[in-house]
Order: sequence, then structure tokens, then C-alpha cells
Amino acid sequence: MVLSELAVRLNCAEYKNWVKAGHCLLLLRGCLQGFVGREVLAFHSRLLAAAPGLGPRAACSGGWRCSPRARQFQPQCQVCAEWKREILKHHTNRNGDVHWGNCRPALWPVDAWEVAKAFMPRGQADKTGPEECDAVALLNLINSCDHFVVDRRKVTEVIKCRNDIMHSSEMKVSSVWLRDFQMKIQNFLNEFKNIPEIVAVYSQIEQLLTSDWAVYIPEEDQRDGCDTGVYLSESQVNEIEMELLKEKLQELYLQVKEQEVLPEEILNQLEVVKEFLRNNEGLRNGLTEDMQKLDSLRQQHLKPDSKEPGVQTPEGKA
Ligand SMILES: [Zn+2]
Repeated sequence: MVLSELAVRLNCAEYKNWVKAGHCLLLLRGCLQGFVGREVLAFHSRLLAAAPGLGPRAACSGGWRCSPRARQFQPQCQVCAEWKREILKHHTNRNGDVHWGNCRPALWPVDAWEVAKAFMPRGQADKTGPEECDAVALLNLINSCDHFVVDRRKVTEVIKCRNDIMHSSEMKVSSVWLRDFQMKIQNFLNEFKNIPEIVAVYSQIEQLLTSDWAVYIPEEDQRDGCDTGVYLSESQVNEIEMELLKEKLQELYLQVKEQEVLPEEILNQLEVVKEFLRNNEGLRNGLTEDMQKLDSLRQQHLKPDSKEPGVQTPEGKA
């Protein structure tokens, strides 16, 4: 039964494109994690070498008063104030949004990843390393931190594509769009010619996007499409779909929380996802919790008597 649901879904070329594009993002994330992790450690060491006073022996003395919230951070101690200055010095977006709320400043002297999170988009507070991050978080870090020497236009092009994928309310992209995405993602990968694990993904993505992407169905013992295809099992495709939908719901969740989008628009987007899940029981079962979390936050925000919408949930609680 689940199998036929998947077959029906993939029969829609534009949905299949959407899942393929999402698969590329997962491959991209996979090849960036190790690299980014190593570079963040190197960046942290470099900062400490230049400013030894910020190292492990420095301690925040501000306690809870040195807690950032969303884009706001007013350090209440010398150490945090100096760290903030140092971070901004390397921030390519220092006059724009810096999501200080991602960070626990008291850990800056000892935890490189807490520093990295100041260069990332919102929603990273509970992440402790690159292996917990999605592609867009890693791309934003590469884009915003001047430690990464890269053509930033190529990074932002991929970030834009990722947003197209996640914000597509119908969960569909055209084949023309997909070809454009392939070009942009490969332009980006070409920036890392000396990183073997990133180079390896270049051809994987090429194969994936140019193949018919046949799904291997063992029960029927047949592979549709020709021999040059990339074959995935039904459960592999399901896993990709699930990851994508989870990211999409998380994105909606953050949009509701930060009240970035009109309630009606959220409602419309949610209706499309619900309708989609109504017809796809296999996916629906795996997303019940995410849907409930989103629904209850939305209800909470709709209440007219909530005194200060958007901040009544404690920071870091998700
Ligand atoms: Zn402090």
C-alpha cells in the first residue's frame, strides 16, 4: 500500500523533481559537515591566537544577564563584550541580522561551535555541531564568516534555490528550475576543488539530476528507466521525503514563531501539506508530532489575549 502511494507520488514529474532537489541538499549537507567542522575549529584557534585573552581561562561573569535573545545581545561583562566585537569583526553581515540568540556566550572561550552559531540563521540554539545542521545553516555560515574564502555570490545562489525548494507550497519544481539548480550547486562545489569529499559529491549530484532516477522495486524485480540511472530503494526515497517535509515544517514553525508571515498565508501552506498528507498515509504517520507542534504554536499565536506574541516561549525550547 505504501509502495503504491510512492509510485503515485513519483508519477508527478514536478514532485519527483522536488524530491530530487531535496536529495541534492542532503548530499550537499553530508559533504559539507566534515569540512565545516574542521574549519570552525581552525577559525576558533585563529581567533584565540590573535586574542589569547579570550581563551579557555576567560570566563563570563555576567551570568544570566549575558543571555542573548533573538537578534539582541547586550553583553554585561568584559569577556562577552570582547567576544562580541571579535565575532562582528569576522561577520560579513555585521550591519544586518546576527542571530545572537543561537549562542550561549559563556561557552565562546571553550566551544568553537557556539561561536559558529553567531554566523548562522535562527533556530540553531540547541544544535551542538555540524552533524546536527541542515544544508542551509552550513551554507549561511560559509557565507557569513570571513574565515571561508569563497565566491559568496555562488553561495547565495544555492541558498536562494534551497529557499525555493522549502517555500514551494505545492512541493513541486519544474525541470527548467532543476537544471538551473544543478548549474548553481555545481558552481558552488567547484569552489572546493581541494576538498576530496566535496569533489566526490559533484559527480553524484550530476548523476542524480541527469538520470531518470528510477526507483528500484525489488518485489517486482524490475528497474524502470535505463541503465545509467541512479537506483534507490523505496525506503531510501521515503527517508528523503520525510527529511524534506520535516525541514519544511520546521521552517513553517520558525516563521510562525517569529511572525514573519501572515497567519492566513501560514494557514494556506499548512492546508496544502495537510491535503498532501491525507493522501499519503505512510508519510503522515511519520510527521504527526511535527504537525501537532506546528498546529499548537499556531493556535497559541491566534489567541487575541496572548500578551506578547512571539516571545512567550522560553528561548531554546522548541
Ligand atoms: Zn558575559
